[in-house]
Order: sequence, then C-alpha cells, then structure tokens
Amino acid sequence: MASGEGEVMRNKQVIFRDYVTGNPKESDMYVTDSSTIKLKAPQGSVAVLVKNLYLACDPYLRIRMGRIEGSSVFTSFTPGSPLSGFGVAKVLDSGHPEFKEGDLVWGTTGWEEYSLITEPEQLFKIHHTDVPLSYYTGLLGVPGMTAFVGFHEVCSPKRGDSVFVSAAAGAVGQLVGQFAKLMGCYVVGSVGSKEKVDLLKNKLGFDEAFNYKEEHDLDAALKRYFPKGIDIYFENVGGKMLDAVLLNMRPHGHISVCGMISHYNLNQPQGFSNLTSLIYNRIRMEGFVVFDYFHLYPKFLDMVLPYIREGKIVYLEDIVEGLERGPATLVGLFSGRNVGKQVVLVAPAE
Ligand code: NAP
Repeated sequence: MASGEGEVMRNKQVIFRDYVTGNPKESDMYVTDSSTIKLKAPQGSVAVLVKNLYLACDPYLRIRMGRIEGSSVFTSFTPGSPLSGFGVAKVLDSGHPEFKEGDLVWGTTGWEEYSLITEPEQLFKIHHTDVPLSYYTGLLGVPGMTAFVGFHEVCSPKRGDSVFVSAAAGAVGQLVGQFAKLMGCYVVGSVGSKEKVDLLKNKLGFDEAFNYKEEHDLDAALKRYFPKGIDIYFENVGGKMLDAVLLNMRPHGHISVCGMISHYNLNQPQGFSNLTSLIYNRIRMEGFVVFDYFHLYPKFLDMVLPYIREGKIVYLEDIVEGLERGPATLVGLFSGRNVGKQVVLVAPAE
C-alpha cells in the first residue's frame, strides 16, 4: 500500500493481553498483524520511525506485566498494546536532528516489526559495527552496563577476592564472572543445569560452577566452594540462595543486589532468615538500578570493546528467529530455558 506521505505497511506486533499474576504464560501475549503503520515520521515532530531488528528478552518485562503502583523505575504495560523493551533497530525516517535514515540504533522500542518512537532520547546511535549488532541487546547494552556498574562501581572489587555470581550463565551473570576473572578474582557461579555448569567452567573461564537445582543444602554447597567465605556476592536470584550466601559472607564483604528473579512471579514477597549476618560481619549490601549510571556508558565501551576485539571476553547469546516466537521465548527466562542472552531476531539487517 502506498500513500502520498510514506508507504503504509502491515505491522506484526506482540500484544500484551492483561495483567499477570503468578508465572507468566505464552498466552498472556498474542501476535497479530491486524494493524498498519505509515513508514514516515509525522511532519514537524521529533519522532523516529524504525524497523526493529533484534528484541531483548529481559526479566524486568515480567515486572511490567503486573499492576505496578508507585514505582519510580517501571510502569505497567497497557493491556491491548504491544510490549516494549530494549532492542536494536534501523532508522527509516526521522524528525529528530540527531538521527537520519539508515542509522543503526539501540534503546527502547516496541515488540513489533516497525515502531514510531516518540521519545528518541531513549535511543543510542550505534557507532561500532565491527561487533555483532545483537550485542547491543546484551554485552554492549543494558546487561553489559549492569554487570559493569554492579560489579565495578557497587562492589569495589580487589585482586584475589572470592566472588560468587548467581544466574551465572545469563545475560548479566556471565559478564560479571568474566570481569571478575579479568581482575584476578576467584569466581564461582550457580546455574540451573549441567549444560550451563560445563559452559561456565569450559567456555567462560569460571573457576568453579554448580547446579543449584541439584544441591539440597545450598549452605553446604557454598562452604564446599568457599571454605574461607565469600568477599563479593553478585545477587541475581534472591530467595533461598541469598539466605545461604548470608551465612557464608566474609567480614566486610559486599553484596551487590542486581535482581531477584525468583521473586518476580510470587504473589506474596518472600522473607529472609539470616539478615543478622549483615551486622555481625559488617557486610555492605547495596541495591542499584543501572539507569542511574548511564553517564558511565562511554567509559564502559572504552573498557569492553578492546576486550571483545582481543577475544578476552566471550558472550553467549541465545537467538531465536521470528517475532511470533517472542511470547514463548520471553516466558522461557523463568524456567531457565535460555542459555546466555535471550534475543529475538525480528528481521536481519540488510
Ligand atoms: P538471565 O540470567 O539471562 O535470565 C534469567 C535466568 O535466571 C534464567 O536463565 C535462569 O537461569 C534464572 N532463573 C529463572 N528463574 C529462577 C529462579 N526462580 N531461581 C533461580 N534462578 C532463576 O537474565 P539477566 O538479564 O541476566 O538478568 C539477571 C538479573 O539481573 C535479573 O534478576 C534481572 O532482573 C536483573 N537486572 C537488574 C538490573 C538493574 O538495573 N538492577 C538490570 C538488568 C537486569 P538458571 O538456568 O541458572 O536457573
């Protein structure tokens, strides 16, 4: 279909059906191509019209599926509208002076083939294209920045520290482990399968790894790998793992609270039993939100791009093809189906 002011295209979308409680299901979303979009930014606007290439499946999208009240960090998705999240896209048209047709960008976009982005300050132009574009959903995007600030800025690591990382084969965890190894730390990761244990030890350079699903006593497992205790815990999961870690922290240790994925599907928040350890062991436990640190993005790129080019960092990605597979793929994060950064390929970059 053509109109005088830009082609009009069918736009396949992943629509959020209704607010979710408990475990998210594929049927909480549906895929439709019933709407159309004009491939032109409205005249006089600063909007940017993009073709989406890659979409990131991130655990916080589950939080946005619930009814959120009074949060300064997230808003709920709107039932009947497409999901939104981080992605990589190509600019088709722009009313914003900083973006032009053909630019590659990453940032907040819609779960659809084409998006009209009305707040382009949420987009970053991609300047380095000698690395895979999909990395801007992971290693060079929010998960990479999260690993960088959560480890280097929040934990104040030192050479020789004993570091424990949970969800260690995921988008964030695999990088925390590698950043810690590059600093000369001893690093152990916990993951949910034997395949992931093998990857951590044989591909990502962790010193040790264990499958938390096979450990009946997490305290005993941690004592096995950290007989002298843990200096730094990078927290991704919460629940029983955090309680067990609290029993194994060394005096003056640091806990960087990045995420608590085991809580996101609970209707009632879960409590902890061993918090007094924070007092007696003088532990600093600090939560952080990566968006507060985006002024450090250039510093992060300066550090990480040479590591990628020199092959000093490996990045595991789990890329599925097709927007229609988005709902099942997103839901798979909560059973650990992803191995590495979970990405949906919407369209190949030409
Ligand atoms: P991810 O690790 O790529 O994917 C999630 C993984 O979590 C799954 O593969 C699964 O791995 C594990 N998992 C799922 N349910 C679990 C449960 N009930 N108990 C234990 N493990 C479970 O995700 P990511 O993008 O790297 O995110 C990791 C954490 O960082 C999340 O908590 C996320 O919310 C948080 N985050 C925080 C910020 C921030 O600004 N603070 C920014 C980005 C991400 P297994 O097979 O190992 O179970």
